[in-house]
Amino acid sequence: MNQNRKELILDLLEKEYYDAKPELRYSTPFELLVATILSAQCTDERVNEVTDKLFKKYNTPQDFANIDKAYLEKQIYSCGFYRNKSKNIIETSKILVDKYGGKVPSSIEELQKLPGVGRKTANVVASNAFGIDAIAVDTHVFRVSNRLGLVNGKDALDTEKQLMALIPKSKWSRAHHWLIQHGRRICVARTPKCSECFLASYCLYNQTHQRNREV
Ligand code: SF4
Repeated sequence: MNQNRKELILDLLEKEYYDAKPELRYSTPFELLVATILSAQCTDERVNEVTDKLFKKYNTPQDFANIDKAYLEKQIYSCGFYRNKSKNIIETSKILVDKYGGKVPSSIEELQKLPGVGRKTANVVASNAFGIDAIAVDTHVFRVSNRLGLVNGKDALDTEKQLMALIPKSKWSRAHHWLIQHGRRICVARTPKCSECFLASYCLYNQTHQRNREV
């Protein structure tokens, strides 16, 4: 796909989703970190339901470093993988208290050293809580950017690198939200709604499938 077409797609995405924002609710970098750990394999709506209650009583690394593990498991049970997520949240909180003075580090490299924090979570926290330019590649960003033909990524990291090379740095964090919104509303996983997609005439996946339908 040529560069002009890719730029056109990005312009159209920006126009459509100019006001896209994170859907997880948080009021501090630490709350965002906990919410993002909880959001693995879980919807943002479910995480918000859980954290709306949880953060009223516990919302600092000190709180979670001392929380009863069985109690936390019960509170976050509906988010799935609750044993692992509880363990990671408690261990991460202890490290934040012991090594970082109770503060969440802003660097992607430091964030990735915390239990339960992979590259995607680190990018989400760094960009949304600290304003650092980053493209977090979750399942929506991976699917939509590859289907459109913006990139040809073999995995999340490869997709992230190609998107970073394609999109101006000042737009990295916002582009992540455009692609998520498009993936949630139109380019859904199982059956993308190509007939109602404003990008259909530029999309590699749609062109390939249209050709296959015509054969
Ligand atoms: S045309 Fe279809 S596959 Fe392409 S971005 Fe739109 S919904 Fe997704």
